[in-house]
Amino acid sequence: MTVRKFGGSSVNGSIQFKCLAKIIESFKEDKSIIVVSAMGKTTNKLVSFNENLSHNDLIFAEQDIKVIEENHLNLITELDLGKEAKSILSKHLSLLRTIKDSVAINLDITESQKDAVLAVGELLSSNLLALYFQKIGYKAVFLDSRYVVKSNSDFSNAEVDLPITFHNIKDSVQKLHTDNNIIIMGGFIASDSKNRTTTIGRGGSDYTAAIAANAIDAKLLEIWTDVDGIMTIDPKFSSDARRILHLSYDEAAELAYFGAKVLHPKTIGPAIKKNIPILVKNTFKPEIQGTLIANSENNPKMLKALSYWDNITVINVKSNRMLGAYGFLSKVFEIFKNYQTSVDLIATSEVSISLTIDNPKNLPHLLNELQEFSNVTVTSNQAIISAIGDGVKQTSGLASRYFGILDKINIQMVSIGASEVNISVVINSADLETSLKLLHNEFFKNVNEPDVFE
Ligand code: ASP
Repeated sequence: MTVRKFGGSSVNGSIQFKCLAKIIESFKEDKSIIVVSAMGKTTNKLVSFNENLSHNDLIFAEQDIKVIEENHLNLITELDLGKEAKSILSKHLSLLRTIKDSVAINLDITESQKDAVLAVGELLSSNLLALYFQKIGYKAVFLDSRYVVKSNSDFSNAEVDLPITFHNIKDSVQKLHTDNNIIIMGGFIASDSKNRTTTIGRGGSDYTAAIAANAIDAKLLEIWTDVDGIMTIDPKFSSDARRILHLSYDEAAELAYFGAKVLHPKTIGPAIKKNIPILVKNTFKPEIQGTLIANSENNPKMLKALSYWDNITVINVKSNRMLGAYGFLSKVFEIFKNYQTSVDLIATSEVSISLTIDNPKNLPHLLNELQEFSNVTVTSNQAIISAIGDGVKQTSGLASRYFGILDKINIQMVSIGASEVNISVVINSADLETSLKLLHNEFFKNVNEPDVFE
């Protein structure tokens, strides 16, 4: 069985629904699962709705509803989905308006209501796609993901309870597949033990799809998006970007974590556990082969891609105690843990530690506590560039080539060796574009490896 996930841009209107149906046509008799994101920018609108309600801006909140209503109504009309689709839409819009009215009588919007709002996008897209497939004669059925994907109650970033969810999905899929071929579920949404709606973090539909793939022992997980696959560099920085034909799970995980937008970083985990290959494809150019992520014995040991993370902050913490005093590092990390701030890169010496964070929300609190036992300096407007490829650590001469290319760039921090597949440097944001281009020209532009790059 195959699980196919279609992102927001792949379900963003009637034209996209038709493209999607065409892709599925030749598989329509096979048993499969489709996981979809919300239409286009719907989740952003729902986030804006929640923010407007938090600030009691009821007029703006109503405008958000109107945009969502219009986009979905256009879809329903253009595909002629009829009464049932309209009543599904109005049920979800009424929920939004009920929440808005509760805020109007001076109640604060709760975290649980916010997630109920965010879920509307995926509930609508999955429900409407199932109706469309039924209309064109595919044996498809809608499955409300909240019945099967269970999570804790950390609203907006809930942790999926994997054992229960695997069991639920397997069970429901078995039952639904007796009379249907294609099961359509929304990504990103779940429910907690009290059956309240939760969401699992922005971009989380890929993760939902990987969980579904693991649950049913899928032979393949397809991620359909609006780019040709995973590229050697973000094409916005270089017209020489090349499609990568094949990546290992480790390479893909590292790339996703260090900024490549195509895959959510959590996607790899459930797939790797069952050795399920992941194929990234373009909905609008299905003839292009995409990028295949899987472990292969003869995966060439070389750099495969560059990724970046802009707007990060470097914190340099220097112990003001004696050299050799123990407990310094654990104390530093304890503080980051207490303020739920995740640390991405680290470099240490005997008395000092440099680390990077991408979310400076709790920076003032962190600094207050760190300054009690150390001298702290903070540098913002920094960027991380990561060069990813299996065998980075074993390839002699690679690091000197890498740093040679960047000899005119001021490098603030380096991380090499912690991961088998990643060399990362921290530089000023202002040098990001130049550095990416220099590295891309050196390591990818003219490399002739027909099994690795297009
Ligand atoms: N719709 C959600 C988002 O925009 C989840 C997803 O698309 O994966 O973040």
